[in-house]
Amino acid sequence: AELNAQATAGPEHFARTRPDAAALVEGGRSLTWAAWNERADRLAAALAARGYGAGSRIGVAVRPRIEWFVVNAALAKLGAIQVAMNLRLTPAELAYIAEDSRTEAAFLDVRDPGPVEDALRAAGAGLVAHVDPPDGLLGLADLLAEQPDPEPRVARNQAQLIVYTSGTTGRPKGAFRQTPTADPDILSCYLDSTRFDDFSSGDDRRALLNMPMHHAAGPNHANACLGNGGVAVLQRRFDAEEALRLIGEHRVTHWHAVPTMLQRIFALPPEVRAKYDVSSLRKVSVGAAPVPYVLKERVFEYFGEGLLYEGYGCTEASMIAGMRPEEHRRKPGAAGRPFRHVKVKIVGDGGAPLPEGETGEILVWTPRMIPEYLGRGPLGPDVLDAGGYFRTGDLGHLDADGYLYVTGRRTDMIIAGGVNIYPAEIEEALRAHPAVADVAVIGVPDADLGERVHAVVERAAGADATEDDLVAFTEGRVAGYKRPRAVEFVDDLPRNAMGKILKKRLREERAS
Ligand code: ATP
Repeated sequence: AELNAQATAGPEHFARTRPDAAALVEGGRSLTWAAWNERADRLAAALAARGYGAGSRIGVAVRPRIEWFVVNAALAKLGAIQVAMNLRLTPAELAYIAEDSRTEAAFLDVRDPGPVEDALRAAGAGLVAHVDPPDGLLGLADLLAEQPDPEPRVARNQAQLIVYTSGTTGRPKGAFRQTPTADPDILSCYLDSTRFDDFSSGDDRRALLNMPMHHAAGPNHANACLGNGGVAVLQRRFDAEEALRLIGEHRVTHWHAVPTMLQRIFALPPEVRAKYDVSSLRKVSVGAAPVPYVLKERVFEYFGEGLLYEGYGCTEASMIAGMRPEEHRRKPGAAGRPFRHVKVKIVGDGGAPLPEGETGEILVWTPRMIPEYLGRGPLGPDVLDAGGYFRTGDLGHLDADGYLYVTGRRTDMIIAGGVNIYPAEIEEALRAHPAVADVAVIGVPDADLGERVHAVVERAAGADATEDDLVAFTEGRVAGYKRPRAVEFVDDLPRNAMGKILKKRLREERAS
């Protein structure tokens, strides 16, 4: 059942066993299992009539809304491959992904669809359908109306998804999501992470889904809930107070968030948070970007103890490590112990393994590692070491109990006067100041030192602290050579859809 959940996650099974129960709830709308299945059959028929079928690559840049699920199930029925696209990308960036993945058709849910449609057509997409069509563009409703009496289809037993890395460090690279296969290692590795993620909980699960759908985490979480017959409560656009209202109104049990969503909830005035009943939640999971310990403490306080899970992973290797609720207080700052089938090593600049406690690059080997980047041939020595371990580009260390600490990206490391400085430590120190809502510490060019430490601070609402206050605050909290030489205040730190702060952009802006 767990495997089916992941592999098909379509509505067919529950359309037979509980046709009239709601599967998807969104705003004032809801869709039953039977209606979902019927729409997916219609859409699959309309696509088949246009020549799309098994193996066709179809781009999907759609918010977490009912239509995403109709499209997703239709593609599974066709055996088509979904190319997950980040709808916040520019037309040129989307065209790059379309060309790179050889996308043949696309479904869009973007603010200004005209330029995106033009870019995708120029990149080779023959069909572009819009979920909310302005006049003159082909819409999902048109496709659904075309085939009044479709032949019911059964989803191929394969999860067919191409996701792209975030492009935090360079151009995004495409990767096939691996399906569990007959290989016992891959299978048990997969089951490990699904068990951790509580995939197998029963059909009383009501999950809030507001994650972007272009990354592995969003669709995975949706599958975990719906594949077991649970209800998905959808929020198209994240809004912190609205999320709390939905949790209370629908008695939500599971929520998977990125750290920024939690941060926005804690930026609400306490009296607003107090208005909502979030006691139905049994699990809050968070990941995809660093999760500061102060943020976890606020989760314990507001949502409760015993329900927070953290996952650490990357597109290429899937889940690497995780923290269970009972572990956070014992190991503050840790990202968890590597899962059973995952091997982790920490290496220094020359590639030699480092002893416990020392910071170096995190290398991983897992049975679920992708064999290649899409269209780029097998993974080579630029990303693999001699032993076949994948270089994550993350820095971190292991402690005596085997817990992994992720302390930043290799490219974000600051070298001041020949000494390595890891921003995470300084960021953690500054976050303890009440005026700091969030912070990014970067290296900026310095004639004398090569680079110097510079902090960019998002100020907490209503707080007033000066640059001098914050520089002084770091005294005694981090060694003198690591203390920021300057602190700059901004309204909002630039972030991607997964909540990762775009340090590359911050550095470039400050270097020029
Ligand atoms: P690109 O490879 O294109 O530069 P990216 O590495 O950001 O982009 P993803 O695979 O989307 O691409 O993200 C994986 C990265 O996210 C990890 O390598 C790590 O830096 C970060 N990350 C994910 N979860 C956590 C976590 N729990 N704690 C700290 N960092 C995390």
